[in-house]
Amino acid sequence: MEIEINLASPEKRKAPDFYNLTFGNIFTPHMFLMRYEEGKGWHSPKIVPFSDIELHPAAIVLHYSQGVFEGMKAYYGVDGKIRLFRPWDHINRLNRSADRMCIPTLEPEKVFEAIKTLVLLDKDWIPRKRGSALYIRPVIFATEGTLGLKISHEYLFMIILSPVGAYYQEGFNPVRIYVTEEYVRACPGGTGDIKTGGNYGASLKAQEMANKKGYSQVLWLDPLYRKYVEEVGSMNIFFYFENELTTPALTGSILPGVTRDSVLKLAPKLGINATERRISIEEVIEGIEKGTLKECFGTGTAAVVSPVGEIYYKDKSYRINNGQTGELTKTLFDYITGIQYGEKEDSFGWAVILED
Ligand SMILES: *Cc1c(COP(=O)(O)O)cnc(C)c1O
Repeated sequence: MEIEINLASPEKRKAPDFYNLTFGNIFTPHMFLMRYEEGKGWHSPKIVPFSDIELHPAAIVLHYSQGVFEGMKAYYGVDGKIRLFRPWDHINRLNRSADRMCIPTLEPEKVFEAIKTLVLLDKDWIPRKRGSALYIRPVIFATEGTLGLKISHEYLFMIILSPVGAYYQEGFNPVRIYVTEEYVRACPGGTGDIKTGGNYGASLKAQEMANKKGYSQVLWLDPLYRKYVEEVGSMNIFFYFENELTTPALTGSILPGVTRDSVLKLAPKLGINATERRISIEEVIEGIEKGTLKECFGTGTAAVVSPVGEIYYKDKSYRINNGQTGELTKTLFDYITGIQYGEKEDSFGWAVILED
């Protein structure tokens, strides 16, 4: 693939000091763009200086949400090498999401090449502090300007990069989550198992409610019975009962997380029995009350593994593991980040080193 490169000015390319990074508010000097037109296919890949983009006011994505995205990270390893974590799984999921939204898929090798070229061009913007990383956000959306509800004939594929800080500024901070019975996130046959914007827009009302009550995230229940646990805002969820680490089975309304899959594969290596099944919220509450639920954590690219210290359900709040981070949670966090930063043996071949 021949990528046309139009460089930003040298002043714009200089990386700032990353002393106080948050999530997703600053961007690197370049972005990748590629267009699709019916009959022409995907064409004219290019890297240009980061800037606003022009959109037709009737662009289908703005009105009917025909768009998908991904989220992955590049890390500076302890050996000075740049690594991506399971990029092919993210790229394949991007294509699965695209297919569900009737967006033409991309050749995985071309997406990888686009990411690699862009990340290496802006590699000075990968923060080096442990825990920080370069967040990679590929997005594809329908650009055809028409108010007719139909499949777009034109798309833009874009990749933008954002240096992000350690999710935990001073050590692990267990999050408090709020179980909503009023709203649901997704339903079988819907789009809960792909990354498309509408899912997230629809989740904000419950998120706002949780925040007002002093909780940081929503724990979603299944849409039919409002009984079985599904996942958290942008994380999958795990429960560590006495002899079992378990996570809700993929029912079609749960996002199949790459980090979720990594935990399921790593747990047996730690001698832990990992399962996927239906988990009712009553089982969780009972486990907390009886003391059989030892730990609870969320998984996702942003936080890797995020301890859950408290669950709010039916006007009552329940503390897990005394509100503290559990041992298994910490071990899994260290294991996965160890692979991402090139410290631990990568026996699954998950880390992909980027070289010029
Ligand atoms: C992205 C996402 C996750 C986590 O997926 P990872 O591949 O582990 O980053 C979980 N749930 C939702 C709803 C998501 O959007």
